[in-house]
Amino acid sequence: MSEQSPRLREALEGIPVYKPGKPAAVGGPVAYKLSSNENPYPPLPGVLERVTAAAGAFNRYPDLAATELVNELAERFDVPVDHLATGTGSVGVAQQLVQATAGPGDEVLYAWRSFEAYPIITQVSGATSVQVPLTAEDVHDLDAMADAITDRTRLVFVCNPNNPTGTVVRRAALERFLDRVPADVLVVLDEAYREFIRDPEVPDGVRLYRDRPNVCVLRTFSKAYGLAGLRVGFAVAHEPVAAALRKTAVPFGVSQLAQDAAVASLRAEDELLGRVGALVGERARVHAALVEQGWTVPPSQANFVWLRLGDRTGDFAAACERAGVVVRPFAGEGVRISVGEPEANDLFLRAAGEFRATL
Ligand code: PMP
Repeated sequence: MSEQSPRLREALEGIPVYKPGKPAAVGGPVAYKLSSNENPYPPLPGVLERVTAAAGAFNRYPDLAATELVNELAERFDVPVDHLATGTGSVGVAQQLVQATAGPGDEVLYAWRSFEAYPIITQVSGATSVQVPLTAEDVHDLDAMADAITDRTRLVFVCNPNNPTGTVVRRAALERFLDRVPADVLVVLDEAYREFIRDPEVPDGVRLYRDRPNVCVLRTFSKAYGLAGLRVGFAVAHEPVAAALRKTAVPFGVSQLAQDAAVASLRAEDELLGRVGALVGERARVHAALVEQGWTVPPSQANFVWLRLGDRTGDFAAACERAGVVVRPFAGEGVRISVGEPEANDLFLRAAGEFRATL
């Protein structure tokens, strides 16, 4: 047998493997998973029924065009159907956007730290990442990002709210930034956590995209709508960009179960958004309790909070785990803690308080 292995693209060398949030241990002392920004509520009964019915037909391919879902979304957002493209989670759509715009020699620009998939999908495309540090307040530095645009920049991600810090960019700053971006550079407003925003100054990307052909909005059913395991997200973009997304899509990537669950979730939106309201209440409670304990916590508009722990990150995550909650450490930087059910948040707050007392 030959020793030689198949020749792989050099661009793949050194790509960090996407690190999922650690699962909660089964049967062990750890009970709660606050490491992946998931929705802690189980699927709504109506959604579950619809998916169960769809499961009876999974010998068939799904609807390639996700017709029912796309029609529902078009109505919901008051956008033309050809401005919509679905994908395998919004991370799938983000990957398609990079593929469609950037290759070797091109640059993809984003804030850092931000969503950890951005460097991975950029490198897979063979393009170069340009990372602009967050400000001291852990917010996107939009002026520095605009300054970092070159004639090689093809795509800019603006993660709003930002994962993992939960911080937001507001209307005036974002509009000023968009006005500075050349018309041939695509700006992707990643709004995975849109439904958790309560700050009225944070613009809705779907409003911003309408008269800006180079703006694309990413949304997902994984967070507020609680369908993380089914993998469905979508983009709202002008026709050329949406058409490019249809070209770069994995055929039949979004299962019929996912499509049907997404439609059922949109129809059960009142109930789902009620749950989001409860999580937003818990977010306020967690934030206030952490501040009371003496922590500095950036204000979060998402379903998680961020503690910049530096070299104490690993110890803090281990202490949480011993107390029964798995959180998401970013080595040497900080810990992201998803807002979960009240009991999970209580356990976390107790662990955080005890850790604080040792400092
Ligand atoms: N964007 C951001 C900012 C995220 O945090 C996530 C989930 N971690 C995603 C996109 C992708 O989510 P999904 O693929 O499940 O839609």
